[in-house]
Amino acid sequence: MSFDHLVRRVAEVRERVAAAVARGGHGQRVTIVAVTKTHGPDAVTAAWDAGLRDIGENKVQEALAKMADIAVPVSWHLIGHLQRNKVKSLDRFALLHSLDSVRLANAVCDHGLARGRAVDALVQVNIVGEGTKGGYAPSDLPAEAERLAGKPGVRVCGVMVMAPLDADEPVLRRVFAGARDARALLESAGHPAFELSMGMSNDYEIAVEEGATMIRLGTVLFGARPR
Ligand SMILES: *Cc1c(COP(=O)(O)O)cnc(C)c1O
Repeated sequence: MSFDHLVRRVAEVRERVAAAVARGGHGQRVTIVAVTKTHGPDAVTAAWDAGLRDIGENKVQEALAKMADIAVPVSWHLIGHLQRNKVKSLDRFALLHSLDSVRLANAVCDHGLARGRAVDALVQVNIVGEGTKGGYAPSDLPAEAERLAGKPGVRVCGVMVMAPLDADEPVLRRVFAGARDARALLESAGHPAFELSMGMSNDYEIAVEEGATMIRLGTVLFGARPR
């Protein structure tokens, strides 16, 4: 696979992001997380060559295989569901975006304590209660924010959300504003919850207008995914 257009696509995304930051008025810095799932390791190298430093994968095994195949020192982000028996693999990732349940939080915290360094993670929140998506219900968040504040093995750095596929703009804005509220709640419980991971190829401009600090982009950078 060749990624000839990647440099131009990255430049265009950066321009659109800057315009969206200006429109939204949140004044935030935005990190592009290049989502390379289903692509080969060449996509990771191409991203690095195009100036991207953060790579997102949704499956641990696939990510580990790519890590073994590349030489560039990118930061790896785990953006998909993590099984509790794989928490050790978090040592290879800079950030877990998908802390999505009490049981996973406990396992992640235990691992952070065992290794002597907290795991950086974002709390995934299921704002509109979509049955097909993981994450905490907003109504469970206040109690979980307090509980996690007593767990030094995990460092809650912010919130991740996924908008429903094909949602129209009012729904998108409701989801992204809900993520902002969730972040504020975590902050007031004492967490260093600065990040808002939200926005994918088809909705990242709205996400940035609503305050996204990390956008997770696959298709818009690399084209349609191979199956
Ligand atoms: C695949 C994936 C993305 C990227 O999706 P695109 O629409 O291709 O940009 C973002 N976030 C998560 C969690 C994903 O699994």
